[in-house]
Amino acid sequence: MILVIFGSQNTSKNIYYFFSKKYCILEAGSDAGGLTTTAHKDGDYFILNGTKAWVSSAREATAGIIFATADKKLRHKGISAFIVDFDTEGLVIGETENKMGIRACSTSDVILNNVAVHKDNLLGKIGDGFKMAMEQLDLGRIGIASQALGIGQAALDTAIYYAYNRKAFGEKIINFQAVQVLKLTYSMAYILY
Ligand SMILES: Cc1cc2nc3c(=O)[nH]c(=O)nc-3n(C[C@H](O)[C@H](O)[C@H](O)COP(=O)(O)OP(=O)(O)OC[C@H]3O[C@@H](n4cnc5c(N)ncnc54)[C@H](O)[C@@H]3O)c2cc1C
Repeated sequence: MILVIFGSQNTSKNIYYFFSKKYCILEAGSDAGGLTTTAHKDGDYFILNGTKAWVSSAREATAGIIFATADKKLRHKGISAFIVDFDTEGLVIGETENKMGIRACSTSDVILNNVAVHKDNLLGKIGDGFKMAMEQLDLGRIGIASQALGIGQAALDTAIYYAYNRKAFGEKIINFQAVQVLKLTYSMAYILY
């Protein structure tokens, strides 16, 4: 989506990238304005350095939209976004994480060691990155909320099944007082929402 909105502001090369690559996105954690990956201008290139943790589909991707800061002191105003080919020298994909859930897509670190990105691959303008990241996150939040709801529902279903099937002291544990309170709480929450 970032490419659709901001890609056309640069060269037509971005349109080529849009159709020919498999993308992943490398932003930051909760404190998006405090990201630590750096981008320093060197002639016609930006030199990227840093490690991005927990990147979805990095192993399968052939390119990424990478957010980096030119000046950490500027916080969110120093962040820019770059389209980066994953076969660029200095870019390494880390081990695939062995996750408890969301296993349909891979998750890995992406390590950037003096990765040179041509200035044509800057998305939008210098300092636009934070705004782009926020727009992207607004779309992503709906999906993340659905995932959280699904995980919560699955956990509850598993607990209810267990409570009805596990026997202790010759009794199904659903019949014990403490578990009954939980059952009542769940029933009330279900009625209210
Ligand atoms: C499966 C998975 C896939 C991911 N894919 C991607 C991806 O494709 N691209 C990408 O860029 N990132 C990706 N991420 C990273 C994700 O965006 C971050 O993990 C997430 O934003 C949390 O940041 P953090 O890990 O730095 O945790 P932290 O920011 O260190 O948070 C640690 C804890 O502190 C709490 N916390 C933080 N700030 C506050 C606050 N202000 N108030 C109260 N509590 C707070 C958090 O809720 C959490 O419990 C992925 C993560 C996971 C788990």
